[in-house]
This record gives sequence, structure tokens and C-alpha cells, in this order.
Amino acid sequence: MPDIEISDLSVDYKTTHGNIHALEKVEFQLDNGESIGIAGESACGKSTLGLTIIKMLQGGEISSGKISFDGKSILDMSESKFDSTLRWKEISMVFQGAMNSLDPVFTIKQQFDELLKQHGFDDNPDKIIHDSIHAVNLDQSVLDKYPHELSGGMKQRIVIAMALLLKPKFVIADEPTTALDVLIQAQIINLLKSLKKNGMSLMLISHDLAILSEVAEKIGVMYGGKMVEFGTSSEIYNDPKHPYTQGLLSSIPTLRTEKKIKFIPGNPPDLSAPQTGCRFFDRCPDAMEKCKTAPPKIKTKSGYVLCWLYE
Ligand code: SF4
Repeated sequence: MPDIEISDLSVDYKTTHGNIHALEKVEFQLDNGESIGIAGESACGKSTLGLTIIKMLQGGEISSGKISFDGKSILDMSESKFDSTLRWKEISMVFQGAMNSLDPVFTIKQQFDELLKQHGFDDNPDKIIHDSIHAVNLDQSVLDKYPHELSGGMKQRIVIAMALLLKPKFVIADEPTTALDVLIQAQIINLLKSLKKNGMSLMLISHDLAILSEVAEKIGVMYGGKMVEFGTSSEIYNDPKHPYTQGLLSSIPTLRTEKKIKFIPGNPPDLSAPQTGCRFFDRCPDAMEKCKTAPPKIKTKSGYVLCWLYE
């Protein structure tokens, strides 16, 4: 049985200017211990997907779909049942923007204590906290510090340690390396890879396909609220099918070749009034007349692609 199975998942945000269709019919599955990287540009639905899985979506409404974790249907579970059995204990999240997610007026230890108290772990909290600080390779002395006394990389490790506190099986990490310099980015990526070796599954959200392919076995590429391509990291990285995935990969600079960096012209689609056909139509170099109708889901070697080119 897959560890995580998501099917037909659609989410809308209601605004004064109408509904924003943030996710539409998203689908993927992960087997036990597998990790997924979610790629795509800003506002394509990556964070909404993470927040929906951990049931912390604010202002959004799930209009269809299923999320199953270890055979349990998350969306059919009441908030109190999910909170007492799964949230933080089995599924946790490293929220975007570590710099701002810690409370500036409490020490790190006080913030860990509060988290444990909220989840009913009052028994020997110091041991649990010390273990999670150790897991992210930080010195225990950080516990007495306030967030402003820590570097960006240390704060990011603290936020990861908080997500690991109750030893969850599945961790959603939303852009954990954004705003960090490349050396600290490398340290965080190595840390995530080492945590995976202990059997933890990750959903790593990033716009950087190179980082995702290094950490995750599977990759889902999102565009305009849809998962337009899903497959193994090596297939997506070495043999991308969707023209958007190909564009993303061509826009990664390399030091070793003189290759000119390409960019994808145009703007992301307006999700308050998305076109009925392929959402990449206006920017796609291969667009055809039939792309004005919704593209079919074509099976690939390891997953699928939504594109008329492979019909
Ligand atoms: Fe391009 Fe058509 Fe494929 Fe969309 S369906 S990505 S417009 S070729």
C-alpha cells in the first residue's frame, strides 16, 4: 500500500475578485520511505499542496479529491482526530520563511517546550528536545538563545528540528533553502539527505529542480495549479517530457559549459480565470490548435505527463 496517495485534489481560494483555482486534479503516490520534490514557479500551488496535506489550509476550500496516508483518509478525518493522531506525530511541516517563523520574544527552549505541551508531551521533554537538536547537528547551547542571536542557517535548522520533534514519518519542507547562501544551502540539503537515511519520507518544495533531483526519488512539476508531469527524479531530470519542465531545466545556469541560459517568456496564468485547455498554452513553444482543449494524461515510463505532444 502506498504511504501517501493523492488523487483528483482540487483547492480553491475564495476572494472578493472570485475563486482562485489554486490546485486542480493533482495526483501522485509515494511508496513507503520514498520522497517527492515539488517544483514550479511562484504561485503555482506548491505551498497550497503542502498545507492541504497537513490540514492547515487557511482561506482555501477543498472542492474535490482524496488524500490517504498509511491507508487512512486524511480529508475524512475530523480536525481533532487528525491533530491528536497525525499532525506533528506522523506528518509535520517545515514552514516557508524560517527567519520569520520563530517568536522573537521567547528563547528556542521555550518555543520547543510550548510545541511539546500543545501536543501533550509533558513527560521528559528535555530528552525529546535534546534528541531533535542533536539530529540537526546543533549544539545544545542554542536552546538558551533568542532567535535574533542565531544565524539564518541555525534558524533553519531549528525550524527543521521542530518539525522532527515527535519523529514523524513524513515531513513537508517548504522552500527550506530559500534566502540562504549556497554553502548553508548545501549543509541543509545534506542534513535532509541524512534524515532520509533514517527512514523519513520528505516532500521537498522548491523551484530548484537540481536540488530536488538530488534529494528526492520522485518529482512532481506544477504549473498553474496542475501537476503537469510526475515521475522518477532521473527521468524528469534527464528526459523531461513537458515543455514547461524542459523550460525549467534550460533556465538552470551551469559553470562548466558556455550554454546560453534560456528563459520561459510570458507570465503564469491567471488562476481566477484559467483557460480551459492547456494552461501553458500562451508560453509553450510547441503549442498546437488542439492544445486549446484540456491535454490528456499520458503515461510515461515512471509516471505521467499532461501534454498533447505525447498522445
Ligand atoms: Fe504545449 Fe500543447 Fe503540451 Fe500544453 S499540451 S504543453 S500547449 S504542446
